Amino acid sequence: MDIKKLVRNKILKLKPYKSARKIGGVGDVWLNANESPYNNFFFLKNNYFNRYPEPQSYLILKRYVNYLNNSKISFKNILISRGSDEAIDLLIRAFCNPNKDKIMFFPPTYGMYHISSKIIGIKSIIITTLKNGNLNFKKIKKNINFVKLIFLCRPNNPTGKILSKKIVLYLLKCINNKSLLIIDEAYIEFIFNKNLLKYLYLYPNLVILRTMSKAFSLAGLRCGFVIASSFIIKILLKIIAPYPLSSPVIDLVSQALLKKNIVFMRNKVLTINSNRIWLIIVLKKFFFVKKIFDSSANYLLVYFYYSEFIFKYLWNNGIILRNQNKNYFLKNCIRISIGTKLECLKLIMKLKKLSYNLKTRYFCVK
Ligand SMILES: *Cc1c(COP(=O)(O)O)cnc(C)c1O
Repeated sequence: MDIKKLVRNKILKLKPYKSARKIGGVGDVWLNANESPYNNFFFLKNNYFNRYPEPQSYLILKRYVNYLNNSKISFKNILISRGSDEAIDLLIRAFCNPNKDKIMFFPPTYGMYHISSKIIGIKSIIITTLKNGNLNFKKIKKNINFVKLIFLCRPNNPTGKILSKKIVLYLLKCINNKSLLIIDEAYIEFIFNKNLLKYLYLYPNLVILRTMSKAFSLAGLRCGFVIASSFIIKILLKIIAPYPLSSPVIDLVSQALLKKNIVFMRNKVLTINSNRIWLIIVLKKFFFVKKIFDSSANYLLVYFYYSEFIFKYLWNNGIILRNQNKNYFLKNCIRISIGTKLECLKLIMKLKKLSYNLKTRYFCVK
């Protein structure tokens, strides 16, 4: 029997998401997954594992509401998910009819919107951004029919660009309540005072995604949030797995949302942002750095001359970055997550050596 014939055709052909971990690499400087370089040291408070966990932890909801600090948002407006990746999947499954509805997004951007829609069998309308990273409203308006969900990553991964509130509000006006606008705020902690929480109240079709994976340094726990109207949250609760979060995750995430640990997170954000500013200044001096994109997040997108060569050279020397070569418009671009000062320094030392070798032509490929 040919089991291959049993598999959905789309899945047979699917190229799965290439996460940083899957791509692999060997070395001691990991600047490829936009993780935080700083660990929290939490311990489990609860050691009972014979019972199922709470489907939605009330303690986490309560503390996350406090953290959001917006009087109009209550626990009824929040869903806790296994990372925001699960939230993306839930939204598509809950709102899109197969063979009819579509999602829309604006590359170059985060890859999971496309992959999730492909897995579920929902068509994607891909409207690439303009050269300056702004939205192509003409094309958006022309292609909006049957689009149920629009994904907008803000700040955008991998460019680091944050679209203005004005542009988001104009987008909301264009879609005229016919679709949900999902703002992926995975990196919002890295830019002060730019979140769009206050618009949730005014626009019932607005959805915000958050994660514990980036600024909160908890990528290993897999925990994210959907913030939206209580109606949308109720719909998503219908289809989420019965026990999406394991007891240890609930235990540790609720600790991370304590006041003192939020202060720790905010301090780390300040450190990472100052590392970023410093790294920009140093990188600019290399003759093979053509352009550094403005970034509002914990990574930099850099256009290199000899980018393939530089990426490989660093890779072979244990400095693992994220090649964006295959992404829309991003030929020759490499994304560098901001690490500790020491990690950034190791990157710079290697680039200095490379720069010297290239200039003096003593270079041989190892
Ligand atoms: C990292 C990332 C996510 C995924 O976050 P998880 O909560 O770890 O699933 C979502 N969106 C963007 C833009 C990201 O960069």
